[in-house]
Amino acid sequence: MTAMRANIGTMVVAFPGSFDPPSLGHLDIVRRAAGMFGELLVIVAENSRKNCLFSVAERADMLARLTEDLGNVRVGTCGGLLVDFLKAEGIRLLVRGVRGPGDFSYEFDLAMAYGTLAPGIETLFMPCDPRYFVLHSSLVKEIAAFGGDVGGMVPPLVAAALREKYGRGKGPAAGP
Ligand code: ADP
Repeated sequence: MTAMRANIGTMVVAFPGSFDPPSLGHLDIVRRAAGMFGELLVIVAENSRKNCLFSVAERADMLARLTEDLGNVRVGTCGGLLVDFLKAEGIRLLVRGVRGPGDFSYEFDLAMAYGTLAPGIETLFMPCDPRYFVLHSSLVKEIAAFGGDVGGMVPPLVAAALREKYGRGKGPAAGP
């Protein structure tokens, strides 16, 4: 693991996910990881297991706008195997957010799968901010679908996009 001896302040790391839609929990992980590593690549996965509300392009666009103030964050999309994408980008470290034991069990299985498919790829688990540990994108969508207030869960830009998706008009503030 000699390459892992690199100074973490210069390393390029990836944060993959569905981000359907991006939440304050996701953005907290983005900011914390971007503060530690040289560059963070947020990868929006197409994820055929999930029936997403937002297209990959819409999710990537929201993330790009939400992170434009962070000079070392890039946003990419991946429609195939994540490990192939990582190999092509020369990335060997993945960051994943963990909200609790349930997430950990799933994330651990994923890390085992990545480790089997591409030995040398490491996963770093970051515990969520306690404010966001019950925050799931699926919950955000459920509340938004019924016209509920998701202001404490997602940035204004995402809340506006949800209102638009669910045909509830533009509403107030739509800045990031
Ligand atoms: P998946 O990649 O399984 O489709 P998501 O897009 O929902 O999952 O999330 C991407 C990553 O962000 C995962 O590591 C997930 O555990 C993490 N995450 C999701 N919600 C939160 C949150 N509220 N706080 C911290 N991390 C989160």
